Amino acid sequence: MSTTYPSGPPCAQRGGHGHPGLIHRFLDRLPFEADDPIVTLQEGSTPLVLAERVSEIVGAEVYLKIEGANPTGSFKDRGMCCAVTQAKKEGAKAVICASTGNTAASAAAYASRAGLKPAVIVPEGKIATGKLAQALMHGARVIALRGNFDVALQLVRELVAEHPIALVNSVNPYRIEGQKTAAFELVEELGSLDALCIPVGNAGNITAYWKGFQEAGHSPMMFGFQAAGAAPLVNGAPVEKPETVASAIRIGNPARWEEAMTAMTTSNGRIAAVTDEQILDAYRFLAANEGVFCEPASAASVAGLMVHGAGDAGRVACVLTGHGLKDPQTALEQAGGVVPCEPELAAVESAVLG
Ligand SMILES: *Cc1c(COP(=O)(O)O)cnc(C)c1O
Repeated sequence: MSTTYPSGPPCAQRGGHGHPGLIHRFLDRLPFEADDPIVTLQEGSTPLVLAERVSEIVGAEVYLKIEGANPTGSFKDRGMCCAVTQAKKEGAKAVICASTGNTAASAAAYASRAGLKPAVIVPEGKIATGKLAQALMHGARVIALRGNFDVALQLVRELVAEHPIALVNSVNPYRIEGQKTAAFELVEELGSLDALCIPVGNAGNITAYWKGFQEAGHSPMMFGFQAAGAAPLVNGAPVEKPETVASAIRIGNPARWEEAMTAMTTSNGRIAAVTDEQILDAYRFLAANEGVFCEPASAASVAGLMVHGAGDAGRVACVLTGHGLKDPQTALEQAGGVVPCEPELAAVESAVLG
């Protein structure tokens, strides 16, 4: 049974104190007006941290854009505040997405905040525990599909053609608009940069960054990285059964394929693959040496940089797309074990110092 509360007057969704959400911060560069029903959890304005150890290894100045610091723990919040604001503006009552996890968590959070009903379709058994917990807690109807992400996206596209439900996957142009603001932040903070390293799944984010850089008058080399078992852009053909430990980029047929390739070719960048082993090496390295815990898919950006090099880039930013706590299972499998100990000083001493 749930508790009922007395209802008071509605309050404005300005987001409260502290930094404004990204719609308010970049209002002049987004397709919204100040009097739109803006839905925000004060996303964006994420930390940009110098990675000294990674910098030493690759011989360039390397920064980490910590997108796991967004309200639901991934960059998806940047696009979702815009997609859900637009859905609310258009009078939608429900939103839906196919998701490898983070889009589901973000859609559920923003929809609940906006008073819309969220439904999410995820590949059964292939979504990290934290993301599933979030989607459920935010009140989403979570549908576990016996099929992969690509099949899920195809099905939701067919569903929304028949029903008045807003589709909030990155095929939605408002998602790209919101996500491009991360490029604005990088340009504002660094002045300029030579290369961006980014994991590529459905290819919405690399498309968004490139749009943002172009609008800001910059053209860093776009280095996109895919997991070797889910690397359609590298192979030049869809992958029917994508497999990787980096569940957020376990996608075989990216929706924004052409745009991603355009970003990489026109920026003199590249698309390359990294193995699960290389991804997990970078994942552990960042946590143990930089104090930054990201999820496996995010580590693909740093893995790619460490394996394939920075080229002639002097200043590089790596996008760490999601927080490490999203996927505690993989973390526990990859980390060392705990030390059992009797409650006696001598035992504690040898456990701590041993
Ligand atoms: C969604 C996601 C990606 C991939 O982004 P695309 O826009 O699908 O290319 C990478 N990492 C994480 C953590 C994600 O949630």
